[in-house]
Amino acid sequence: MSQPSIQLIRGFKDILPGETELWQHIERTAIDLFEDFGYREIRIPIMEKTNLFARSIGEDTDIVEKEMYTFTDRGKDLLTLRPEATASICRSYIQHKMYAQDPVRKFYTIGPMFRRERPQKGRYRQFYQIDAEIFGVAAPFADVELILLLRTLFERLEVTDTTAHVNSLGCPVCRPRFKEALTGLLDAAAPVLCSDCLRRKDRNPMRVLDCKVPGCREAMQGAPSIIDYLCDDCRAHFATVTDTLAQLGVPFEVDKQLVRGLDYYTRTAFEIQTGALGAQSAVAGGGRYDGLVGSLGGPEIPAIGFAIGFDRLAEIVAATSPVAVRPPQLFIAALGETARAKAFQWATTLGTAGIGIAMEYGEKSLKAQMKQANRQGAGQVLIVGESELQAGNAVLRNMADKTQVEIPIEGIVEKLIQTFA
Ligand code: AMP
Repeated sequence: MSQPSIQLIRGFKDILPGETELWQHIERTAIDLFEDFGYREIRIPIMEKTNLFARSIGEDTDIVEKEMYTFTDRGKDLLTLRPEATASICRSYIQHKMYAQDPVRKFYTIGPMFRRERPQKGRYRQFYQIDAEIFGVAAPFADVELILLLRTLFERLEVTDTTAHVNSLGCPVCRPRFKEALTGLLDAAAPVLCSDCLRRKDRNPMRVLDCKVPGCREAMQGAPSIIDYLCDDCRAHFATVTDTLAQLGVPFEVDKQLVRGLDYYTRTAFEIQTGALGAQSAVAGGGRYDGLVGSLGGPEIPAIGFAIGFDRLAEIVAATSPVAVRPPQLFIAALGETARAKAFQWATTLGTAGIGIAMEYGEKSLKAQMKQANRQGAGQVLIVGESELQAGNAVLRNMADKTQVEIPIEGIVEKLIQTFA
């Protein structure tokens, strides 16, 4: 009796051929842009010690409280599948003392992240992010550059329906005054807050602003905005960010409600939202985290970064500009065992020389093979059977205009390389 087939894990997904071409197109477009602006790729592990995420993202966040895939490795270390990339990049920056030679570093990384959220459209438990970070620049230019990069990437991908939402989350100097003002409101709203928020209310009141529970969201409608409590330095920083964005013609909205779901952010926070995604409208988010490198045991070095939701971006790009699969340049239709063995030699030589090649490995009629070549979108088909081998000529058929020419089998590979290279 056959076994029941095994399905993938809930909230996880396959990215299949047909979609991967689009993912590669997005990836290449992003990498080109990052390299235009001097970012270098960094690859960090998929797992880290749990402490790294708990300390950086924050104990009272949804991610750390409920969403991390954490396990004990053979009864010893507590490990977690990374829910985001920034913490690992900081860890790496500190561990390799990258600041010693030149504290200013620009990185990008692309890869999967894991959060045990409730799966729904646009929200997965394994999802992908395209991530960029700038270390060592306190000036607001870094903030502007990252928002500009996002805008430019979306433009290059022909995604137009996006808005940059920006806010300032202040710094350790201005936050206490804001928290005080917020606590008054939270005390009054206590009867309607969820149990998590009741706990957060005293330990980390700003997290309540980020709660997804509808009752909490409603209670926070009239919450004060930190932007009204900024210290002089944070206010000046934010003014330069918004002025420079305006000078560069980057459209944005100041969004006083924007808080972001991670504790490490300071000053500028931003999100790119789009109307194209329904409920999950954020396609990218980021912000400054000037205290994080220091709090993870490194020197006090300012930094800022963003993460793009790759899955969501792919969904938008797929709807607007589908990417074509690269068809084979040449399909070899061989008939009979001897011709097939020859054809296989030619095909491997041509493929090795960089020519897009396909062939049928089994015994199939010419008609079936022509159909197959057509389905794959091959530009030309080389037909070779026993009679062609005997006559010393194969037939090359142009699939677009249906013309055919004979080409001598002697020296055929060189001839085809010349034709297709
Ligand atoms: P964050 O790291 O939470 O700031 O998220 C940055 C971006 O990643 C978001 O704007 C989303 O586009 C994307 N994202 C976050 N969580 C998920 C998820 N569970 N599934 C798909 N995309 C996600």
